[in-house]
Amino acid sequence: MNTSVSLEDPHCPHDHSQCVSDALAAAEQVCERAGARLTALRKRVLELVWQSHRPLGAYDLLDTLAREDDRRPAPPTVYRALDFLQEHGLVHRIASLNAFIGCASPEHTHQGHFLICRNCRVAIELEQTLIHPAIAEVAQRMGFAVESETVEIAGLCAHCQEAA
Ligand SMILES: [Zn+2]
Ligand SMILES: [Zn+2]
Ligand SMILES: [Zn+2]
Repeated sequence: MNTSVSLEDPHCPHDHSQCVSDALAAAEQVCERAGARLTALRKRVLELVWQSHRPLGAYDLLDTLAREDDRRPAPPTVYRALDFLQEHGLVHRIASLNAFIGCASPEHTHQGHFLICRNCRVAIELEQTLIHPAIAEVAQRMGFAVESETVEIAGLCAHCQEAA
C-alpha cells in the first residue's frame, strides 16, 4: 500500500496561477468525461475558490461575485454551482469552517482529509493516507455504511509555529 502523503506546503513561494490553470484544466476534463457542462458561472466559482489555498466561505464568494459583476448572481444559483463542483469532486466542503477548498486531484474519487491551520487557515489536503482504509475497516466491522468521510484535523501549520 502506498502511504506516501503529498505535502505541498502552500506557504512555499510558488506560481499559484499554475495551480489555478491546472485545476481549471482538470475540471474541464472531469466534466467532459462525466458529460457535464462547466458553465461560465461554475467555472468562475471554481476559480474564486482557487484564489488561495485557504477555504473560501460561501458569503465571501457571493461578495466577490457581487463586487466584480453588476449582474449579481442570485445566491441559490451560486449554491447550485457549488453543489455541482462538490458533486464532481472539484471542491471539498470544510464543514468546520463552512467553506470550500479546491481539489488538486479531482480525476480520481477520494475522500477529503485535511490538515487545517487555525491561525492562517491554510488547508492541506492529504492524499493516500492510511486514514481511509482504517475508517473503511472499522465501519465494515460495525456494519456501518459510510456516506461521507471528510476528516478535518485542526492545528498549527509548520509556518505558523515558526512565526509564533
Ligand atoms: Zn497554489
Ligand atoms: Zn481532493
Ligand atoms: Zn498556518
